[in-house]
Amino acid sequence: MSIELKKVSKQYGRELAVEEVSFSVEDGELVALLGPSGCGKTTVLRMIAGLEQPTGGDIYIRAQRVNELSVQERNIGFVFQSYALFKTMNVYKNIAFGLKIKKWKKADIVTRVGDLLRLIGLEGLDHRYPHQLSGGQRQRVAMARALAPRPNVLLLDEPFGAVDAKIRQELREWLVRLHHDLSITTVFVTHDQEEAMEVANRIVIFSKGRVEQIGTPREVYDHPASEFVARFIGVMNVFELEVRRGMARLHELEFPAAGLADGQRVRIGFRPYAVQVSPDLDHYRYRAVLRHTFFLGVMLRVELQLASGLTIRGRMTKEEYEHLGLADDQEVSFQIRQYRVLGNENTPLPPEISTAGDTAPVRRESPVDEPPASDKESVGSSEKLP
Ligand code: ATP
Repeated sequence: MSIELKKVSKQYGRELAVEEVSFSVEDGELVALLGPSGCGKTTVLRMIAGLEQPTGGDIYIRAQRVNELSVQERNIGFVFQSYALFKTMNVYKNIAFGLKIKKWKKADIVTRVGDLLRLIGLEGLDHRYPHQLSGGQRQRVAMARALAPRPNVLLLDEPFGAVDAKIRQELREWLVRLHHDLSITTVFVTHDQEEAMEVANRIVIFSKGRVEQIGTPREVYDHPASEFVARFIGVMNVFELEVRRGMARLHELEFPAAGLADGQRVRIGFRPYAVQVSPDLDHYRYRAVLRHTFFLGVMLRVELQLASGLTIRGRMTKEEYEHLGLADDQEVSFQIRQYRVLGNENTPLPPEISTAGDTAPVRRESPVDEPPASDKESVGSSEKLP
C-alpha cells in the first residue's frame, strides 16, 4: 500500500471541507479524485502533499504516518495547474531545479535531465524558455520537473486544465503511457468525469467533502452506489411520477407500481442507453418526435419529445441510427428497457429493473421517501459517456 487515508478531516473555521475521508492507493496505481467544484478533492491532495494539515485522521505514505512530516520529507512530486515553470529558467534548468536543491552531483543531473527529456519527448528543446513552448510542452516539462528527484508518489491537480481540448486529450494519453512505463503511484484530481474514466485505474468520487464511491471506471459506471454518482458519472433521465390505480404515472409515462398507494410519489431514473427507438410507430409502446440528434463521434445522443412536452434522452451508435433510417422531426416509437426506482439523491441506488415487455412490477420493500416538490423531469448534466 502506497498511500492510505484514515478518517481524514479538514475544518476551515466553521466549514468542514473534508469529512472523515478514507481510501488507499496501491503501489503503482493511478487513482483519480473526482467530484464537482468545492467537494474537497484539492484539499485532500494538498493534505497528502503536506501543504495542509488535517484537523482529524491520519495519512500514511508507504506505511509511515506522515501527519507531522514536512512537504520535503514526504518525497512527493506534484504538478498543479497553476504551478507554472520558472519563467527565467530554460527547460534544462527547470527540470534540474529540484536536483540542485538536493545537491545532486552535476554529472548525475546531466544524465537525469537527459533521460527525462527523452521520456517526455522534448529532446533538443533543453535551451528553450517556457514562453517558447506550447501549453502541452510546458505541462510535460512541469511533469519532468516533478519526476526528477524520483519521488515515491506523484500528485497532479488538474494538470491539464489550462490547455485546449485537443492538447488535453493528447496529454491524457501521454500520461497513461508515462504511468504505464514508470509505474509511479499517482493521485490525480479532476472535475472531469471523462478524464477520470479514461486515465485512472480507480476513481474516488467525492461529494460535499465525503467519499461517495470508490471503484474502477467500469464499476462506478455500471454499478453506481448512489443517484449522485449515477448522475455525475453519466447521464440519467429522472422523472417524478405519481401513483394512480396501481401505476406510477407522469403524462404518457407509466411504470408498474403494484402495492403502492394512490397519490404516492415515485422517482424513476433510466440511462439513455436503456431507451430503444424504432421508426415503426407500432413497434414500441410510446410515441415521440425525434427533436434533436447530437453527433458525438461513434455514439449519438437523441432527444425525444412526447406529445405532453416531456423530453427523454436516448443514446445509440451511429450505425444503429443509420440502420433505422432516423432523422430529426421524425415521429418514432420507443420503450424504456431498464429503469430504477430512486430514493433520495444520497441513498444507495437500487438495482435496475428490466421492463421485460413493460410488465415487471416495481419492486420495493419500503415506500419511497417524499422527494422534493418538483413534478417536472430533470435530466442529469451533460452527456459525456457511452
Ligand atoms: P475545485 O475543483 O473548485 O478546486 P475542490 O473539490 O478541489 O474544488 P477544495 O478546493 O478542496 O474543493 O475546497 C473544498 C472546500 O473548502 C470549499 O468549500 C472551499 O471554499 C473550502 N476551502 C478550501 N481552501 C480553503 C481555505 N484555505 N480556507 C478556507 N476555506 C477553504
